[in-house]
Amino acid sequence: MRLVILGATGSIGESTYKVWHEHRDRIQVEGLAAHRNGEQLWAMGLKMGAAWIALTDEQAARELTRSHGGEPGPQIVVGGDSLVEQISSANATHVLGAMSGFAGLRPTLAALKRGMRVLLANKETLVAAGDLVQRTAAMGHGSLVPVDSEHSAIFQCLRGNQPVSRIILTCSGGPFRGRSRADLQAVTVEEALHHPNWSMGKKITVDSATLMNKGLEVIEAHYLFGVDYDAIEVVVHPESVVHSMVEYVDGAIMAQCGIPDMRIPIEVALAWPERWSLTVEPFQWAGRHLHFEAPDLKTFTALSLAYQAGRSGGLYPAVLSAANEVAVEAFLEGRIPFLRIAEIVEETLSGFQPSGPADNLDEVIAADHWARQRALALSLN
Ligand code: NDP
Ligand code: MG
Repeated sequence: MRLVILGATGSIGESTYKVWHEHRDRIQVEGLAAHRNGEQLWAMGLKMGAAWIALTDEQAARELTRSHGGEPGPQIVVGGDSLVEQISSANATHVLGAMSGFAGLRPTLAALKRGMRVLLANKETLVAAGDLVQRTAAMGHGSLVPVDSEHSAIFQCLRGNQPVSRIILTCSGGPFRGRSRADLQAVTVEEALHHPNWSMGKKITVDSATLMNKGLEVIEAHYLFGVDYDAIEVVVHPESVVHSMVEYVDGAIMAQCGIPDMRIPIEVALAWPERWSLTVEPFQWAGRHLHFEAPDLKTFTALSLAYQAGRSGGLYPAVLSAANEVAVEAFLEGRIPFLRIAEIVEETLSGFQPSGPADNLDEVIAADHWARQRALALSLN
């Protein structure tokens, strides 16, 4: 397998590095990409023997070229357009998509167009452009394997074409489970970044606190598995042991369980349809208590907003995701309070005038751009 890792310097990138380290005889790393974390990417490129590394931030890429360009090591690719070109002419067989946000869309499309298998963690890409991504995969004979733990669970529980009645997405509830809106008025960035079970990048950790992460995952499941929104249910499961479930028409339910460790879904996606070994502690069942409860939609309105945007279809999910990215950034920078995140997403969605077809890249980019401007203006009010 010849692998490209997009978002190599992030949390998923780090877990991928660990899986690669256990299986480096099977995985040849062709390229690595990140945004501006040049020194870390250079060090990873050397350790993993990558042929090239790409920084989408051109200034950071030029600085890296100045400091390491003359040394033996990977070729340095400068900027997002060059990264897309690099993927379009790469000989890789697999691309692990773990950039955060909308930035993952164009490289993902390039890989699918070239017939590669995309192991997708970057859910924003599928939310913003689910139709376009699936159509590009079909035309280019590329394929998608989920890395997001819930979707990996569903992927593992599905059996051929057996008829499914429901997909049950589990949700930890995040750090603010059980709190009321009044309790959430004044929560800090630090509190929002304290996830009870998973250690992840900042954006997705805040999304887990608002439950927007689960909302994005509902839309992600719709596009990955072709299931109607009415048949996708979210259940809060604070222990994060059951990673998600599939219910068949005869009432039988398949669940995938285990410790919350992203190395597992990454390995599943890399090895699929095989299974490779992984060094994990044996799971202890005895003495555990597992709980399940309905999500509190009144407090965590982001989840309902995502269902609404998903059901509206077209470019609405792209607007939802872009507005959310901007609002989360504003929260992380201390410019807006926590509850304002979902309000900004709601106000952006309600002002959107749908334009062209959602399976056209220019239309998706235009909707994303419009939503960012609108959400930014709202965050400055
Ligand atoms: P991190 O913030 O830890 O890492 C993000 C990575 O993407 C970094 O390598 C970063 O590079 C790169 N990046 C950020 N912005 C850009 C950009 N504009 N252009 C190119 N590269 C960029 O995020 P995570 O690893 O937590 O998450 C990555 C994706 O995976 C997200 O879409 C998230 O929703 C999804 N995911 C993550 C899970 C997790 O457990 N962490 C679980 C399930 C899904 P740099 O370091 O240079 O800034
Ligand atoms: Mg998830």
